[in-house]
Amino acid sequence: MARQKVIQGGEDDGDKMPSIPPGFGTGGEFNPDDDKFDDELRPQKLADVVGQKKVVDRLKIVLDATLRRKEPLGHILFDGPPGLGKTTLAMTLAREMGTECQITSGPSLMAPKDLLSYLTNASYGSVLFIDEIHRLPPAVEEFIYPVMEDFRVDIVLGEGLNARTINMKLKPFTIIGATTRSGMLTAPLRDRFVHREHLDFYDLPELTEIINRNSNKLRTKIVDEAARLIADRSRGTPRKANNLLRWTRDFATVREPEGHITKVAADNALAMLEVDSVGLEAQDRRYLQTLVAVFSGGPAGLSAIGHTMNVPPDTLEDEVEPFLLRVGFIQRTPRGRMITAAGLNHLGLTPPAQPDPDDSQKRLF
Ligand code: ADP
Repeated sequence: MARQKVIQGGEDDGDKMPSIPPGFGTGGEFNPDDDKFDDELRPQKLADVVGQKKVVDRLKIVLDATLRRKEPLGHILFDGPPGLGKTTLAMTLAREMGTECQITSGPSLMAPKDLLSYLTNASYGSVLFIDEIHRLPPAVEEFIYPVMEDFRVDIVLGEGLNARTINMKLKPFTIIGATTRSGMLTAPLRDRFVHREHLDFYDLPELTEIINRNSNKLRTKIVDEAARLIADRSRGTPRKANNLLRWTRDFATVREPEGHITKVAADNALAMLEVDSVGLEAQDRRYLQTLVAVFSGGPAGLSAIGHTMNVPPDTLEDEVEPFLLRVGFIQRTPRGRMITAAGLNHLGLTPPAQPDPDDSQKRLF
């Protein structure tokens, strides 16, 4: 999704949704991935960021040092699965620096000229956030090297013998890149980031805290057991936790007399969404079932699985596989993806009996 917008830093300017009079719709379709909805629950300060303690502690040091020296932050790269807080950290850093944050993404920067307006708009010390930076086309990547190193752009005018390069100086600023595939980043680009941070999945107490805080922000009462249940089904991801919270809140508004999220309401809401006991959704289960039914459990190539399921392989790799790998339901082998015994058990299937090593020894003699 291409996103282009600027947020102003500094004071908490309360970029909250305007309040909607009771009984009126929002005038648009609800899309939980919409930035407008995301922003409402996004931590605004570094101190509000839950979890990722080591990363946050290191960022605080860098932030304090640069604020004291009144310099721009060094370029930062965040990597990790979607929904873990890469955009959130970039925005909070800009806010803490009291500067603006321009937002764009790798796929939307098709040619160097697409990047130019962001570069000329970047004020001293401001932040340019580039999401999915591994998808920058090579020509844009080449163009960005002198920007990151010397705050300079090289513009080539004319062609062949008449070609001339014009250098343009930029104000020093900070590029914060985010990627779900750090392995796809070229070494020269990766090396130009001064700080590189990997974000990991969140644990249960952290997700429970996010859910409790956010139900307060959404002015919804939730019982502890329900918060823990939602956290447990959130697959280690704050974005998932927020989406499940919004869904259970809608469910409770309609089905519960007081609109509170009780344990029973959360249970029923998650069942209606077909979220199972470990947090898998229909698409995750379909992935496992495809591996078994079509590829005899694997090994199978990612694109073959994607084509069979009619889902882009990138979506599977970014959104489905990280969690299946984490819970040990699949394995990535050099020959492709394979379902594990735990994955088969989860589908209610019995793993094929392993050949008894004693048997083969017996057969040798
Ligand atoms: P990413 O950029 O890694 O895909 P985001 O930064 O957009 O993820 O995070 C998705 C949502 O999850 C945010 O809107 C925010 O509300 C929530 N979130 C992410 N990280 C945290 C965190 N550390 N603490 C609280 N909420 C978080």
